[in-house]
Amino acid sequence: MATHPLDDALPRYDVIVIGAGLGGMTGANQLAKLGHKVLLLEHHYQLGGLATYFKRPGGHIFDISLHGFPHGMIKSCRKYWTKEIADSIHQLKDVRFLNPEFDVHTTFDREDFTRILTDKFKVPAERVEAFFAHLRAMNYYDRDNRTTGELFEEFFPGRSDVHRLLMEPIAYANGSTMEDPAITYGIVFSNFMSKGVYIFQGGTDTLITKMTAEMKRNGVDIRRNCLVEKILVEKGADGKPRVTGVRVKHTRDGALRDVACTAVFSNANIKNTLLNMVGEENLAPEYAAETRAVRVNTSSCQVYMGIREGESIPHIGDLVFTSGAQKFTSQELVDLHTSSRTYSVYYPDTRPHTKVPHYAIVTSINQKWDSWANLSEEEYKREKERLIEESFVGLEKYIPDIRKKVDFTEAATPRTVKRYVQHWNGTSFGTKFEGLKVSMEMPDHVTGLFHAGSVGIIMSGWLGTINYGIITAAKTDAFLRGETRPASAV
Ligand SMILES: Cc1cc2nc3c(=O)[nH]c(=O)nc-3n(C[C@H](O)[C@H](O)[C@H](O)COP(=O)(O)OP(=O)(O)OC[C@H]3O[C@@H](n4cnc5c(N)ncnc54)[C@H](O)[C@@H]3O)c2cc1C
Repeated sequence: MATHPLDDALPRYDVIVIGAGLGGMTGANQLAKLGHKVLLLEHHYQLGGLATYFKRPGGHIFDISLHGFPHGMIKSCRKYWTKEIADSIHQLKDVRFLNPEFDVHTTFDREDFTRILTDKFKVPAERVEAFFAHLRAMNYYDRDNRTTGELFEEFFPGRSDVHRLLMEPIAYANGSTMEDPAITYGIVFSNFMSKGVYIFQGGTDTLITKMTAEMKRNGVDIRRNCLVEKILVEKGADGKPRVTGVRVKHTRDGALRDVACTAVFSNANIKNTLLNMVGEENLAPEYAAETRAVRVNTSSCQVYMGIREGESIPHIGDLVFTSGAQKFTSQELVDLHTSSRTYSVYYPDTRPHTKVPHYAIVTSINQKWDSWANLSEEEYKREKERLIEESFVGLEKYIPDIRKKVDFTEAATPRTVKRYVQHWNGTSFGTKFEGLKVSMEMPDHVTGLFHAGSVGIIMSGWLGTINYGIITAAKTDAFLRGETRPASAV
């Protein structure tokens, strides 16, 4: 008879972390360091969530989301993970934009953007300085209702080319639009402008291996193939639901186990956590309605291309933002037939430790869940083939013989995201602005339930997720320290 991965688990933990994405792993590691008994449950056999990798025949390793993050990751990794992890973070020096309006190479930092905006786009230096000063002063608590589009119009009126330069990379990265609150743009853009774009040298596989080792060192009990189906609650003395444990399904044979805990730290999607795992019946009606109304960002599609062993490709830039659209619009960017593509080129120095040098190209395209959700299997296959073909056509402009060099291709869509990380409608970049409030208020509605993941204004990807994991770990720790266990738990 198959054994359940939880057969030898403790009968009770201080905290159960649902999901081993960057948010869950950071939270689990921090809580274990603070002395709590932590169980980390991941439904997949591999850790990392969206920040993971996959291997394919031919020696290929593909990174899902190692395209670039801000310099702040160095400090966060040093402080909350290890110096060794922080020391492997390296800058990408050649970010490139190619579209009918401009062809620009940049280090994507404030100094270089100022140079480009003044020399190439002929914007007065004082305007550029005023824009950066404004971004720096932006504050979540100001409750400024302006949209990103309005912010651009104020500083660079009628300059759609400047708006494109400023917005295209951020929209690509997190699916945000000109209609979103300017603060969501300001925080992410400022994070990058501080010192440019960075990646983890060694690849995501090395990073996740190091993070896993660190979690084990700190005593996190890690279990894979464990899908949390339910967060178990009972009515507390104050009439509010309070967490008592989780119900876990073994993904291999479907066997169920309940595990008791004092707190749950959910790294699962916010809507899955509240509407499916806790259940609407356990939530106050207004909070349930607020949760239902949270909009998720679902627009990540990718095409993975592996270059045949022994072949090489020329340097065309590290991160190449391309588009055939005459003018940038948020709608065109996420259209099923968008002409926008970002090529992340992984040269052998991404993994300098490997014996055989390998090149890979990951094309990112922004197309929404709604465009993919209802396709038949046949249509789905055809549309994925179209994505691959269009990525080749786009690349041939820079590497004419690219088809001859590639021996592996695969496409991923929001449906793929849903399958691998379970997220509501294939959520890839957290939620819109309103998600942060629902996430932060979770323990007020369900005692002992905390949430961390890419949400709201901190949907800046890896950095925002790690930092939010730490914030949530601090709240969970405070709860556990002030907590007396309910009589039913003894
Ligand atoms: C295609 C793509 C490219 C990206 N590129 C970048 C980039 O270049 N730079 C950047 O900074 N960010 C990037 N991001 C965003 C970044 O990867 C995410 O913001 C971040 O990894 C999210 O981490 P998380 O912890 O919030 O969630 P996730 O990584 O989604 O982790 C959640 C985890 O919970 C698990 N889980 C969910 N439900 C359950 C359950 N019921 N039981 C057990 N386990 C469960 C999932 O399997 C998963 O492991 C990209 C995202 C995508 C999709």
